[in-house]
Amino acid sequence: MAVTKRMRFEILRRDNHACRYCGATAPDVKLTVDHVLPVALGGSDEPANLVAACQPCNAGKSATAPDSPIVAAVSDDALRWANALLEAALIQEAAIDARNHFARRFRDAWDGWLYDGEPAPLPADWRQSMGRFRSLGLPFGVMREAVDAAAAKPGVRWDKRFNYFCGICWRKIEEIQHSARDLIATEDSGL
Ligand SMILES: [Zn+2]
Repeated sequence: MAVTKRMRFEILRRDNHACRYCGATAPDVKLTVDHVLPVALGGSDEPANLVAACQPCNAGKSATAPDSPIVAAVSDDALRWANALLEAALIQEAAIDARNHFARRFRDAWDGWLYDGEPAPLPADWRQSMGRFRSLGLPFGVMREAVDAAAAKPGVRWDKRFNYFCGICWRKIEEIQHSARDLIATEDSGL
């Protein structure tokens, strides 16, 4: 498997566009992405085995044993970078979990209100709305109250309940943003 363009770009960026063997930087030298342990010797296309290298170093590297100290240091760095990537991916995953959790709790609350045995209809993109509300800082408890308020409000058409609910949420988000601005203003005035 070849190293993708995207991976090359990431490796060069990680290595600050400098050759990891001699320190020469672009544009003084043309940088390539080099396998620390050559593919022919079982080296992988993982970031931990890839470094930015200038062409002379890349070409002369066959003289460098893969276990030389410089290569070990490079591998160490690359490993740290690979771990950071993994951690970043986990953080993103946790954010997705939290978003799904918020959506699920909305759904539970929403489906708890029945009209002739049916919950009020939701638009196809209701999850996106929930994601937006949550990313704007709408707390779960306030969302829950908005569900109850929209469901209990007399005179709102069955198929308009979700719109009504969204209206309440947007108002609450505005209130929260106002309060936040007030807090910052208070802090700035030194109180
Ligand atoms: Zn070099």
